[in-house]
Amino acid sequence: MKLNLPSPVQEIHNPHYLEKGVRVFVKRDDLIHPLISGNKWRKLKFILSKAQSEVKNHLVTFGGAYSNHLLACAAAANYNGLPCTGIVRGEDVKNEILDKCTALGMKLIFVDRESYRYKHQIFEDLFGKDDQAYFIDEGGASEQAVEGCEEIVNELVSTFDHILCAAGTGSTAAGILAAIKKQKLSTRLQVIPVLKDGDFLKQAIEKYTAPDAAFELHQNYHFGGYAKYNDQLLDFIIDYYKQHHILLDQVYTAKLVFGLDDLIRSDFFKPGEQLLWIHSGGKTGLLGIRKKLTTKAPEFRQILEEIL
Ligand SMILES: *Cc1c(COP(=O)(O)O)cnc(C)c1O
Repeated sequence: MKLNLPSPVQEIHNPHYLEKGVRVFVKRDDLIHPLISGNKWRKLKFILSKAQSEVKNHLVTFGGAYSNHLLACAAAANYNGLPCTGIVRGEDVKNEILDKCTALGMKLIFVDRESYRYKHQIFEDLFGKDDQAYFIDEGGASEQAVEGCEEIVNELVSTFDHILCAAGTGSTAAGILAAIKKQKLSTRLQVIPVLKDGDFLKQAIEKYTAPDAAFELHQNYHFGGYAKYNDQLLDFIIDYYKQHHILLDQVYTAKLVFGLDDLIRSDFFKPGEQLLWIHSGGKTGLLGIRKKLTTKAPEFRQILEEIL
């Protein structure tokens, strides 16, 4: 498996940033691997070594129908020659992501939304007798995931005043913060929750890093909730691609960069500061809004065709 590591850092040039006196850089974790994209690779790395050390060869994990984590897990299992089962939330769903998971050898089991809430129970019922089965939580959330995400900071060769990341479970943010603390950097972490009522993220992050004030949550950029979006966000994705040739996804990274630009506009950052946002990947999520995107911007037809 060819991995593009350490992932490159590049500057984003924009007259707006110049005007405010800030410099903006992006760490391109989206380029690590075409399918095991971004932070999902980082989160799986130590999960896989833990499974291996416990001699558990059958990966069992969970996700929604467009889960970046399911696809990443399927690709990682395929590469390592391990059997893999994906428990999918919702009955009778079918899409290109799940097709790709199947093609990579993942066995899919669909469960209704109510049962899905009890993941450990499902695992127990289905695989309680399979001593090879290894439970991987939805999104890969775990101590190992946090450890893997520390490498985002450990790979940097220069320091930044602020690092910005999107948050779903908060493991990525926790890993970045843990590494900032270990290295005793003065870098501050700005976290953009992609879901509504992201208050729980404060505890989720501090669970791994001990309470401190080196990070802030910016709760105004969820666009109505997890995986919710509107025309403004779609236009933002299209314009950003036209300007910078970087694809953002509507679930995570577009909300992050929209928030970043808004924070810059409202003078949240001081002139002279250097900012780094983490492109955590997720471009396959765009397949879920293919019609809407190509209606607005026909040039996305070609781009989306190349994604899977
Ligand atoms: C899963 C995911 C995230 C969220 O990471 P957490 O560690 O769950 O907060 C961010 N960006 C992308 C592209 C993702 O796929």
